[in-house]
Amino acid sequence: MSYLVTIGLEVHAQVNTNTKMFCACRTSFGDDPNTNTCPVCLGYPGALPVLNKLAIEKTLLTGLALGCSSPEFSRWDRKNYFYPDMPKNYQTTQMDFPLCLGGGVPLFDDCYPTDARKNIKTPDKIVRLNRIHLEEDVAKSTHLATTSLIDLNRAGTPLMEIVTEPDLESAEEAFAYLRSLQMVLHSCNTSDADLEKGNLRCDVNISLRVNESDSLGEKVELKNLNSFSAIRRSIHYEIARQTEELDAGIPQIQSTRRWNDDLGETQMMRTKENAHDYRYFPCPDLLPIATAPLLETVRPLVPEPRLSKISRYENDFGLTTYDAAVLTADSHLAKYFEATADPAIPAKKTANFLINNLLGTLNEQSISIADCPVPPEKLRDLLTLVENGTLAPNQAKEVFSVLFASPEKAPAAIADEMGFKPTSAGELDSLVDQIIAENPDEVAAVKAGNEKLINFLTGKVMRSAPTKPNPKQVTDLLRARLL
Ligand SMILES: [Zn+2]
Repeated sequence: MSYLVTIGLEVHAQVNTNTKMFCACRTSFGDDPNTNTCPVCLGYPGALPVLNKLAIEKTLLTGLALGCSSPEFSRWDRKNYFYPDMPKNYQTTQMDFPLCLGGGVPLFDDCYPTDARKNIKTPDKIVRLNRIHLEEDVAKSTHLATTSLIDLNRAGTPLMEIVTEPDLESAEEAFAYLRSLQMVLHSCNTSDADLEKGNLRCDVNISLRVNESDSLGEKVELKNLNSFSAIRRSIHYEIARQTEELDAGIPQIQSTRRWNDDLGETQMMRTKENAHDYRYFPCPDLLPIATAPLLETVRPLVPEPRLSKISRYENDFGLTTYDAAVLTADSHLAKYFEATADPAIPAKKTANFLINNLLGTLNEQSISIADCPVPPEKLRDLLTLVENGTLAPNQAKEVFSVLFASPEKAPAAIADEMGFKPTSAGELDSLVDQIIAENPDEVAAVKAGNEKLINFLTGKVMRSAPTKPNPKQVTDLLRARLL
């Protein structure tokens, strides 16, 4: 039997601040265990929290970029539970008055897995958000055979919880949602949002039902999803598992399951019967936050939405939707493109060079565009050399390879060193005459219509030239003489 699938996602994104949410401890990753701690994040009795204003501003900025609204006052609550990863025995979080409400995440075609793209121009779906609230991360526990280790460096790191409405219907949509959300977090610079590094974590709620009119089926929560492929595979697995059980007449129960990536299966962790009762209550140590003044501070920082950037690139630069989508998929790349673009160079050529050559080289060397050694001005200088005829496109690629390794050099100087310079007009003219005189058979063939032989003659001129002129310049001269 086939079932309707309903999926909701809860994403935890660490806010990229230098210090923790309620104390001045550093948030740096990879330090010796338990070195970034103090009485506040260790939960000592009587230690009082101090709010990290930047973390609140970054959460509000994320909310504005996603079209959320904010309540006039946002409030802090205590979520009470006992577990070694939370030494205070409660987590400071937000229950009834989160910083952001509503909003949505558009699913762009290039956010889907490569094999599931639909070739659509504009996002065909916007996943509605329920809320974004801010809380503190817990400590990191490592479970060994007979003992568990606790590292409290992570305890107290600001954490945005981004919760969707149950709007998603497939593993591929969940994948696309996360990619699109990741792009927004990067463009706002509010989270490093890297699943593999654990600063973006995702829980999936999934349920099946037969008809649209039925109420939602019993919800199963999937945890421990730390890669895009794990998210996709676990949802496929869970849909198949629930389908099989429902077909066999086994009802689902509300439960939490852990994804085992090695075995490729979900495993039961707990059912609703032993679910926590967190006994939320307002935190007596922290005042509510008036959101209006903070929203005004961050409003000018809201990045241009990707959809409008794509249409601006199409309209202002004349780029194809494909090129515009590639360039806007990474805000650093978009910035790089805009800094390289020059009215004297066709934007399509700039886009092509960035997409094919620059991104190719960066990928080969595993360097991100944000760390690109070649500044945009240098790349613009290189493309200008192509535009003014000094360099042929293939020569420009060779110059670029050298420029990438020695970005302090000027592209013109590199071209010069490599012998890529126009031969003087007079000199080239006489070379062309000489080659025409020396190759009467080929010249006759060209005149008879075999234009391919122009390349042969171009090669001869190139080899006789004292420098390496732009082959196009030579071909043009030959054409003018012979055709
Ligand atoms: Zn601390």
